[in-house]
Amino acid sequence: MTRMRERWKGIFGAGGRSAQEKENTLTAELIAVGTELLLGNIVNTNAAYLARQCASLGLACYYQSVVGDNAARLRNAIAAALKRSDIVILSGGLGPTSDDLTKETAAALMKMPLVMDSRSLERIRRFFENRGLEMTENNRKQALVPQGALVLDNDNGTAPGLILEREGKRVILLPGPPGELCPMFEKSVRPYLSQLCPGIIYSRTVKICGMGESKVASMIQELIDAQSNPTVAPYAKTGEVHLRVTARARDEEEAAGLVGPVVKELEERFRDRVYTTDSDVTLEEAVLHILRENGWKLSTAESCTGGLLGGRLTAAAGASEVYRGGFITYSNKAKRKFLGVDKETLQRFGAVSQETALEMALGAAQRAKTEVSVSVTGIAGPGGGTDEKPVGLVYIGCCVKGHAAAREYRFDGNRAIVRESAVSAALTLVRQCVLERLALERDEVSG
Ligand code: ATP
Ligand code: MG
Repeated sequence: MTRMRERWKGIFGAGGRSAQEKENTLTAELIAVGTELLLGNIVNTNAAYLARQCASLGLACYYQSVVGDNAARLRNAIAAALKRSDIVILSGGLGPTSDDLTKETAAALMKMPLVMDSRSLERIRRFFENRGLEMTENNRKQALVPQGALVLDNDNGTAPGLILEREGKRVILLPGPPGELCPMFEKSVRPYLSQLCPGIIYSRTVKICGMGESKVASMIQELIDAQSNPTVAPYAKTGEVHLRVTARARDEEEAAGLVGPVVKELEERFRDRVYTTDSDVTLEEAVLHILRENGWKLSTAESCTGGLLGGRLTAAAGASEVYRGGFITYSNKAKRKFLGVDKETLQRFGAVSQETALEMALGAAQRAKTEVSVSVTGIAGPGGGTDEKPVGLVYIGCCVKGHAAAREYRFDGNRAIVRESAVSAALTLVRQCVLERLALERDEVSG
């Protein structure tokens, strides 16, 4: 590593920075190489990983592509990428076989002849020796590197990674297997790239529940449009929207100073819809937190979610202080037996109804002896829907200190999405009902 640092220094001392770089917004572009990817035989997880890494480094990433193991098409893809981006990151095709063409193609394009790298050759020789395997001639090929390239050691395989630099453009070649690519990125590529993008990237997340993505976006459109540093970016999650506020600055203090006022502005706009501004806190944790603060216990009554809600609650550390337990009452019989839902209610209104949801919530609160309870009943699909009660129709009930309410929801999507949406909506409703109740109690005290 020390040796590599010195080699880098030599290269960066000598100018060659593009106009973009001077402005501090470097663009990076990803190319995944492999016919297997094009055929859909493997999923391009490297692209997702590299894109996230680039974003966290503050590199603008406008294009991603996949190209098969074909020299001419690969050449075209790299050439096109070099025209529009400062940094091109390729993954795959660095192996020893004849279909592995990435290095040869990139080197030819960058006009860098291949030469034997003795250090890589020695490392590959040791790699085989340690495993008691014989090194073949085509493994020697992996130690050939474009003349002048930076060589990145591969601690988990044979093919070294490579960085080719020419006229302010950079081509980074990484091995395809994620078990080799990710550690190499962390160890060598990240330090290399962060040297190109001085300063730090700092972000905070404002998490919003109970409001759709388009509504959230419409309330902050001018913030999204107007700002460049910090930026505000919405991310839609099931039943939630996260707003990530990101700034680039010299140090953390400066960045926090840029991000703070925007976070405050967002909190003012979305008020009690914001359940946290801590990126590590989940919705279920936020719900458990409010209940814990007030010394209230929670119980659940689930039909169509079959325990998913209890699962999410108990996945949060410290849930036991708040969550007393739940009833999975999938059949009408179970709803009657375990929650005391009235037979007539089920007959008149059906299991998927506001009335049943109410009685489920009340039953759970009474039988589990909790201040707060929440119930879910709905039609997750794909079967079971009617015109009157379509797939995606869900009723969620909530009871806080004897006061129960139930709300109707209509979710889109398949069975898994409907169930997940119902869980998020249930958590959101508990939060809302508890906040309302607390506000009421405060008013009673002050009034
Ligand atoms: P090797 O030395 O193993 O041949 P390589 O650098 O030549 O490595 P490829 O031959 O392109 O890489 O791919 C090897 C394996 O790495 C693939 O079979 C696949 O399992 C994995 N892989 C390649 N590209 C990707 C990608 N974009 N996303 C996820 N996995 C990938
Ligand atoms: Mg290969």
